[in-house]
Amino acid sequence: MDAAIVTVGDELLTGDTENTNATWLCARLDDRGVDVERVTTLPDRVADIARVVNEYHAEYDAVVVTGGLGPTHDDVTMAGVAAAFGRDVELNDEAVAWLEEEGGYAADDLATGTAELPVGARALHNAEGVAPGAVVESCYVLPGVPGEMKVMFAGVAEEFTGEQTYSETVETSEPESALLDRLSEVQDRFDASVGSYPGETVRLKVTATEPAEARRAADWLAERVESVAA
Ligand code: ATP
Repeated sequence: MDAAIVTVGDELLTGDTENTNATWLCARLDDRGVDVERVTTLPDRVADIARVVNEYHAEYDAVVVTGGLGPTHDDVTMAGVAAAFGRDVELNDEAVAWLEEEGGYAADDLATGTAELPVGARALHNAEGVAPGAVVESCYVLPGVPGEMKVMFAGVAEEFTGEQTYSETVETSEPESALLDRLSEVQDRFDASVGSYPGETVRLKVTATEPAEARRAADWLAERVESVAA
């Protein structure tokens, strides 16, 4: 299974809010063996959301959208997702019923637009907040508030599955340019791929579909690179 993540919010594009939702979702989807192929951040603008969600829905097995679900003027994500599927938004009876029964809200007290979802969407209830999420075909629309997003994602996590991979990390004080021969050899010798991530040290991440193979490849590398402590 592959997937794209779309995070929506003007505040993400100005740097006012760090996009922790994208990083968190990438990690959770990767944990479940799903290949995340795109992470895109969009402004609160219906046309942009509609265009990108439509394109990603055609391209990937699933699209996960976060942010812009509330009832304020800049929360336009549901309208954008609905447009991507050629649908309107409408008051979702299931979402209203849940908000009344479980959330303790009277339907009349809900701000206009709060429970409006794309026509035919499956409502996702918001146990940590108010605004419901939605599933339209294979597009999952989640809140922007990280705590709400995480709990709602947990409720649908099992719908995301893929081939599990296993990783081991080796850290070295050698510069990246000095490691090229061993990085290429380890990939020839083992059924594993290696990512190299330089910072103060270089972090080598070995990934394989079998845990033992990842371990063997990491051990082989660890014996051949200068350790950080050395
Ligand atoms: P609600 O469910 O409360 O209506 P919402 O879906 O409308 O939320 P937004 O209005 O887009 O969410 O954002 C609410 C807050 O969530 C923002 O002020 C920001 O702090 C946080 N937030 C939104 N998107 C992200 C993100 N991608 N990463 C981290 N935090 C985010």
